[in-house]
This record gives sequence, structure tokens and C-alpha cells, in this order.
Amino acid sequence: MTTQVAQKVKNFIGGEWVEAKTDKTEPVYNPATGEIIAHVPISTTEELDKAVKIAAEAFETWKDEPVPKRARILFKYQQLLVDHWDELARLITIENGKNFTEAHGEVLRGIECVEFAAGAPSLMMGEQLPSIAKGLDSGVYRYPIGVIGGITPFNFPMMVPTWMFPLAIVTGNTFVLKPSERTPLLANRLAELMEEAGLPKGVLNIVHGAHDVVNGMLDHQDIAAISFVGSQPVAEYVYKRGTANLKRVQALAGAKNHSIVLRDANLDNASTQILNAAFGSAGERCMACSVVAVDETVADEFIEQLVKKANEVTIGNGLDDGIFLGPVIRKEHKERTLQYIESGEDEGATLIRDGRNDKSAQDGGYFVGPTIFDHVTSEMKIWQDEIFAPVLSISRVSNLEEAIELSNKSPFANGSCIFTNDGGSVQTFRENIDAGMLGVNIGVPAPMAFFPFSGWKNSFYGDLHANGKDGLQFYTRKKVVTGRWV
Ligand code: NAD
Repeated sequence: MTTQVAQKVKNFIGGEWVEAKTDKTEPVYNPATGEIIAHVPISTTEELDKAVKIAAEAFETWKDEPVPKRARILFKYQQLLVDHWDELARLITIENGKNFTEAHGEVLRGIECVEFAAGAPSLMMGEQLPSIAKGLDSGVYRYPIGVIGGITPFNFPMMVPTWMFPLAIVTGNTFVLKPSERTPLLANRLAELMEEAGLPKGVLNIVHGAHDVVNGMLDHQDIAAISFVGSQPVAEYVYKRGTANLKRVQALAGAKNHSIVLRDANLDNASTQILNAAFGSAGERCMACSVVAVDETVADEFIEQLVKKANEVTIGNGLDDGIFLGPVIRKEHKERTLQYIESGEDEGATLIRDGRNDKSAQDGGYFVGPTIFDHVTSEMKIWQDEIFAPVLSISRVSNLEEAIELSNKSPFANGSCIFTNDGGSVQTFRENIDAGMLGVNIGVPAPMAFFPFSGWKNSFYGDLHANGKDGLQFYTRKKVVTGRWV
């Protein structure tokens, strides 16, 4: 592994591991201990330009490689990821903080993306119509688009990059990835394994950094498309600047996901699922449940069960056995979370479980215990903003219609879940809720490789989502050929 403890993280350009020329670096912390585990370079646009130039050159040959040959590299890659599963999961836990079991699950999500992409020979097939007029046939052929720029967040160091580069590459594009500067290590390991799988030099490149590299990508005339995943303001900015420069852009943004618990729900299941969805991965999931609208007739019972389960949550270093709740990503993020908890109290919500009091919340890492507010209204900041931490808001409602109306006030619309045993309620929910990823009696309707990750409203900017057939279309363009042969 080239990613050594407290070493300066290297860029990967043209198949070489190169030290960034810049002296500007940021520390990478293990959020469970506060220890510095590496230094990430804040690369310059000069380094980005070099990577893009090499990726553009590599595109000229890579695009002509037969599709099955490109796919075969991904088959090899899939096997390598499986072989290194535990090691990858461990690295995710060390740099991100989520517990080892969750990290293991994240690796699985990444492997599924590679498996989906390895189906490229079928996915890239065109369509033909032999007689659009007498003796005239017509058909559609699919082609790559060029160099793709990928910009990724800290919360899924493996899953989010693998939404992007395997599918982009197997369809014949070349790729420049800028991983989150807070979790850069796993990205390098993914590239090392790609090298081992036999990917030609220059097809996948990594330039570590922050705003300069992002802006350089958005303005670069040789980058054809941008895949972005991150917070809402940055997603909007990336979409506007990228499209102003006439690029294809898909920008997956922040969220505030709502769950609805109806009076006929199985409350044991609902409280367990919502506990996992709200506090799993320390609430740092774009599909985390952060607001619950619960029917007032079962609210007390639901809350009692939820708080009881929250009191049993184990908090600590995600590498230790049996730990459920790891740290949030940085000290500043913990402080921001504590400010939100104060604001919830100031605005009149009832704090029924205070995660600041958990013993581990005072230890070396950036821990916040499960925090639950009751009687939250849509006027409060804790209802409106994405806190991205283990803080859950509960509102009491009198029926499904009121719950849907409340939820639809949010400008975010990644996901929403309903807990009920009534098919009619599920149908009403499905037809009226403003969200793209829906769950029924589950807490996290997780994005899968084979379906689009369908965020709505301010949770997504663009036309074609990540993953599935949307992802394939985003990374390809078409030729329609019409011909008379006799
Ligand atoms: P972030 O927006 O801070 O960073 C994302 C990327 O953008 C990083 O690579 C970062 O370097 C870059 N960046 C940040 N600020 C920038 C700026 N001003 N100019 C240019 N580039 C900038 O997001 P994060 O904190 O790393 O990740 C968490 C966020 O991502 C949450 O809002 C979460 O909901 C969202 N997310 C969304 C999805 C989804 O599918 N919708 C998935 C995962 C995460």
C-alpha cells in the first residue's frame, strides 16, 4: 500500500504515483482518535491540466478498445476488490469513522457498481430498425464522450467514486477523480487495484485537492462531463458553472430525509429501522433519516421504544467489536452539530435524548451521541437544515395527508420512507410524496448500482442520475445511422 501513515498522499497521473508540486497540504485525521494519519496535497490547476492532457491522450486509444476487453479488466478488478474486502473496509473506517460492518457494506455497494459496469457489452448495445422506409434501415450506436471529471464527498469514500469511474471507463471514457480531501486514502487504494487489474496508463487519474482543482475541472475545455456528489450549495454551484461551460453535469446534492410512521405500523420494526437510519454512519448519509412525522396516537409509544434503543447504542472507534456509532468527520463538524442542538433547544423543540451527555461524546475523537428532539416544527432550523450528524427531529401529525404535506415543504427530496401495513396508505404516499428514493417499512432505501439514484428538487441538479441506465446514458452519446444498401 503506498498510502502510509502520516505520509503526503500522492496524485496518480498517467499511471505514475507522483508527489504534488504544491507545498500546501491539509492533515487527514482519523476522526475516532483525532490522530493525523496523512497529509493531502491541495494540488494546483497546473497539476490538473497535466492529468487532463494525459487523460485526453489516453482517450484516443482507450475509446477504440473492444468493449468486451474493457469489461474484462473490470472482471479482474471485481475479484481484486473481493480479495481486499476487509482491508478496504478497515481503511474506510480509519479515515471516515463509520463502523467496520458499515464499511464492509460500503465495499459491497462498490463491488456491485463494478459488476454492473462489467456488463458493458450488453449495456452499450444499440438498436436497429431495418425498414424505416422501403430499403432504408436505421440504427443507433453508442459512444463514449471523452474525459470525465469526478468530484466526490467524504461520507462514502468507496461507494461514490465507484458510482462514477467503473461505468465511465468501461464505456470508453477516461477519468480524472478529485476525491474528498477529508478521505483521500481509499481512493488511492482503488486506483492501485485498478493498476493491478491491468488498466492502461492515463485512463484513470487522481488529483487530490480542493476548490482550485474543482474550478479547474469546471472550466477545462478538455473535460466533457462532470459527475459531482456533495453538499447542496456546492452541487448547485458545480452544476451552474459546469453547464455554463457547456459540459454535461450530474450533481447529486444534500438531503433532509423524512420518514412517516402511521398508527398501524409495526412500531418495533419502525423504531429499529429509524434508529439505524438516523444514527448509522453517525447520520452522515445522504439517505439518513433526519425527520420523523409520527401519528400522534402512537407517538408516545414509538418514542419510548426509540429512546430505549438509542440508550443501548454503543459509541466508539468503529474498528472495535460491537461499536455501532462512530465519530463525525471533523472537530468543526462536531462543533457545528452542537450548535444545532443548542438552536433546537432555543427554538422550543423538546430535547428528549441529549447525545452531548454520552460519556464517549467527551472522548478524544469527534463523537456525538444519538440526539432526539420531539415537537419539532417546520419553522425550526433543525427541521430545515441538513445537519449530517446523529440528530433526529420528530413531529407529531394527525394523519398521512398532514405528514406528506409537512414533508413536501422541504426543498430537499432525496428519499422518504413510510411505516405502515396498509397498501392504500403506501399508494397515497408513493403518489404524493416529493422524493425520488422511497422506502416501505425500511429505514434506508439505499441506492443500488443497477437503478438510478433518483434525488429530486434541491437534492439533484441535472437530467441523468448516477447508476443504472441513467449512468450509462450520462457517460455515452449516440450516432443514428440511416442507410440504403441496395
Ligand atoms: P462537500 O460539498 O463539502 O464536498 C464535496 C466535494 O466538493 C469535495 O470533493 C470538496 O473538495 C468539493 N468542494 C467543497 N466545497 C467546495 C467549493 N466551495 N468549491 C469547489 N469545490 C468544493 O460535501 P461533503 O461534506 O464532502 O459531503 C457531504 C455532503 O454530500 C452532504 O451534503 C451529503 O448529503 C452529500 N451527499 C449526497 C449524496 C447524494 O447522492 N445525493 C451522496 C453522498 C453525499
